[in-house]
Amino acid sequence: MHIEHLIDGKPVASARTFPTVDPATQEVLADVASGGEAEVNAAVAAAKAAFPRWAATSQAARARIMRTLGDLIAAHVPEISEWETRDTGQAIGQTRKALVPRAADNFHYFAEMCTRTDGHTYPVDGALLNYTLFHPVGVCALISPWNVPFMTATWKVAPCLAFGNTAVLKMSELSPITASRLGALALEAGVPPGVLNVVHGYGRTAGEALVKHPDVRAISFTGSTATGNRIVQAAGVRKFSMELGGKSPFVVFADADWDRAMDAAVFMIFSNNGERCTAGSRILVQRSVHDRFAQEFALRASRIRVGDPMEEATVVGPMISPEHLAKVRRYIEMGPAEGAELIAGGLDAPALPARVTRGNFVRPTVFANVRNDMKIAQDEIFGPVACIIPFDDEADAVRIANDTRYGLSSYVWTENLGRAHRVAAAIEAGMCFVNSQNVRDLRQPFGGTKASGTGREGGTWSFEVFLEPKNVCVSLGSHPIPRWGAQ
Ligand code: NAD
Repeated sequence: MHIEHLIDGKPVASARTFPTVDPATQEVLADVASGGEAEVNAAVAAAKAAFPRWAATSQAARARIMRTLGDLIAAHVPEISEWETRDTGQAIGQTRKALVPRAADNFHYFAEMCTRTDGHTYPVDGALLNYTLFHPVGVCALISPWNVPFMTATWKVAPCLAFGNTAVLKMSELSPITASRLGALALEAGVPPGVLNVVHGYGRTAGEALVKHPDVRAISFTGSTATGNRIVQAAGVRKFSMELGGKSPFVVFADADWDRAMDAAVFMIFSNNGERCTAGSRILVQRSVHDRFAQEFALRASRIRVGDPMEEATVVGPMISPEHLAKVRRYIEMGPAEGAELIAGGLDAPALPARVTRGNFVRPTVFANVRNDMKIAQDEIFGPVACIIPFDDEADAVRIANDTRYGLSSYVWTENLGRAHRVAAAIEAGMCFVNSQNVRDLRQPFGGTKASGTGREGGTWSFEVFLEPKNVCVSLGSHPIPRWGAQ
């Protein structure tokens, strides 16, 4: 299979290509066009040329196209999920039931939002009337990571296009396949050529050329904090949304609903192979129940089915690449050296079906009695590795939860209502789920604070990056104007 760029509605090849590889088998799935400055320039030029017409397209027509695109994705869920699973190693049960259907939801939801870009009015003493208009920004750079690429790309493309902008989408070089389906389906849905362009390539070449391009007005980036920092420096002043890394606390008080807290804790670190920005990777457990919790959690982790991501029963598939597997394994090696107690998983290879014995697999791993200052507790491992950290009381829990450079998500488990609200307010994070796993509602502001990013996306929060507010101040004729120099 060959994957080309989509520029101005047409497939475009590059002289160079790179392979994309199935992380479960090491089989090359496709040869992908490797773009650089020339392809980025062409894509931005196409997006710029398409912008005035698309921005002037009626909201109803844009909404219709967005709805159609959502319908087309929904109709292609089996095919897209299969490619997503083969390209990323995310288990098919998760891509087919959750991740790809959510991509369709994104277009259906933002189809409705086309007509919700209403502003505010601020009348002043019957003499002045201020009102706000929201204008589309122009050409937007949308950059996506490899962990849930299709869903993440649509989370950006849907509001971007619905609000009248045009886009250049750059997928991760490690998982580019499904974006080419998105581009083709967008054209089929009636998105005009040039409105959505897809350029493939490496971060240092295609990515950097895109974020530096002077005609790119806004950058919506999801990826690591290190790359986010590099982009902000390279791009200078622009509109940014930065959805970056995390090391989110999952706080379990002794009075929590034990079974539900256990289910959610297991889900929040091992779903999506642990390659999840909102993973509850630091599990803070009140000291009086720490050992019992750790023991049961380790048993649950050891029973999780690791294996062929194309099999329905698989929960944890392979890591995205051999390099990423090596990184995760380095942290697993580091845990005991730092003094943490390895109670499940570890470096031994899991038992695997014959088809995937060459895959980048690691066993779900659990460390107990972790101290928050250990590297395994501070660094984003981005794999199926849980750190269980004991705490003494509410103040201690909040102190440990906040003792991190990150601030993306957080989870609090307690039956004490007052404490639940106090801790939710005290934790420094963009999101807090109380007695719940991470449950998305498309209206919520999604995003983080501290090194986890800046800006929020979702619902009207997506206005921040994809719309430019303008205040219009109108005199009703009677307000005083200084008459300097009049006599
Ligand atoms: P990454 O930062 O390595 O790459 C992300 C994207 O940026 C890729 O498309 C890459 O090609 C591109 N890129 C790399 N260097 C670039 C540059 N100099 N200029 C422009 N683009 C460049 O991240 P990753 O390894 O693909 O993804 C994992 C990270 O993403 C984790 O840290 C994870 O927490 C984060 N993530 C965050 C969220 C969120 O919503 N906060 C969601 C998913 C993933």
